[in-house]
Amino acid sequence: VAVDAALLAGVLMRTGEQPNASDVVNYAPFTLFPSAVPQDLFEQAYAVQQDFNLLVDAISQNKEFLEQTLASTIKVDDFTARLFRIYTQVLEEGLAQTVFLGINRSDYMFDCGLDGTAALRQIEINTIAASFGGLTSRTADVHRLVLKVLGKTEEARRLLPNNPAKGLAWGIAKAWELYGSQRAVVMFLVEEIQRNIFDQRCVENELWNRNIRVIRKRFRDVFEQGSLDASRRLYVDGQEVAVVYYREGYVPQNYDQQNWEARLLLERSRAVKCPDIATQLAGTKKVQQELSRPGTLEKLLPGRPEAIARMRATFAGLYSLDEGEEGDRIAATAIAEPDRFVLKPQREGGGNNLYGEELRQVLEKIKDSPERTSYILMDKIKPQPALNYLLRAHSPLQVSECISELGIFGVYVRQGQELVLNRAAGHLLRTKAMEHADGGVAAGVAVLDTPYLV
Ligand code: ADP
Ligand code: MG
Repeated sequence: VAVDAALLAGVLMRTGEQPNASDVVNYAPFTLFPSAVPQDLFEQAYAVQQDFNLLVDAISQNKEFLEQTLASTIKVDDFTARLFRIYTQVLEEGLAQTVFLGINRSDYMFDCGLDGTAALRQIEINTIAASFGGLTSRTADVHRLVLKVLGKTEEARRLLPNNPAKGLAWGIAKAWELYGSQRAVVMFLVEEIQRNIFDQRCVENELWNRNIRVIRKRFRDVFEQGSLDASRRLYVDGQEVAVVYYREGYVPQNYDQQNWEARLLLERSRAVKCPDIATQLAGTKKVQQELSRPGTLEKLLPGRPEAIARMRATFAGLYSLDEGEEGDRIAATAIAEPDRFVLKPQREGGGNNLYGEELRQVLEKIKDSPERTSYILMDKIKPQPALNYLLRAHSPLQVSECISELGIFGVYVRQGQELVLNRAAGHLLRTKAMEHADGGVAAGVAVLDTPYLV
């Protein structure tokens, strides 16, 4: 019943065998039951989202902060260095872009304290290609039906409506409107392999509903068909582009030399990039670590003590591994007690972090080399597990001990210096079996879920 409901509701993914065809599709993995989420923490996560939107936007406009924070990282991490080079190049030329659109997702886990109470702890903010806002707009309906079938009508009524797809499209539409050309299109910049196309189509179709034209192009297409006119308006395949919405471009594997050139062309253009290169850099793990340093938030958002307090209340312990005494000390602690920490490189998309014995071995090896600087350390969050069934095509049905991660989508639009839109746009709950330390839905580890507030 649950699987049929998911298929009917459009909780879909293309298959691993035919990742670029819609002839054969399957349901995206999801939990059989909604998962319990403490209501106070859920509300806390929503309440802080506008603050995080402001913060990301402020960082993206602060050249000095980005330069200082990423200086050590770009010496050793080639990917971040290349992004940074484009950032510098675009600033040197002078920005043609005047309207800015941010779509991010702040992710949290519920840390279980010694006394059994749970606390909201931020895992990271995704400032580029934050996904599953589309499919998750449809999962609550599936869980509502499952609860009804079980005779739990009252519980079914309590599942919250949730429509990030609409919220994200609203932001994109606002940016499109402010760009100010009726003819211009929104361009989704998509990967070569598009298994998660239905998630994107949810947002795309909301735009068509508003009579905004959408095209889907890869970096390769931009390289072949893209150009700028004298005022740096972007044209791709003969069409003027108002908004570039990246669902690609966040890992080194997305780039060859041509794709880097295409990225530079897009960044130089007048089109609204979601995100622009500065905002992508604002989402790096190194920046996150630096934000937790005493005094940093105060410098970035002067005169906003309440927003700062709300954000700081969600931070987990984060530690720099830069060369020097501070880094030496924390590296030694982590080698002695690896289970207290997560070791993170400057990468996105899941499956890159190191835990436990592997963390110890890697850190032992690089502890006296500059390579150490390309990582950060973070306190490991330890949530209370709960039982659930993870439904995944072609996998046996079995009950697992699971933990969940809550994401809140944020959307904002800025024109020049004026913030014209700033809101939370909905949520995403992802759940995975305890035995997996890492990994999201796309990585095949976590599955879609719906919060049941308790
Ligand atoms: P990515 O950019 O690859 O998504 P994340 O920082 O979100 O990197 O980490 C990936 C996954 O690893 C998370 O979804 C979460 O399951 C796990 N994880 C990350 N940080 C922690 C932490 N501090 N404690 C426990 N688990 C973590
Ligand atoms: Mg993540």
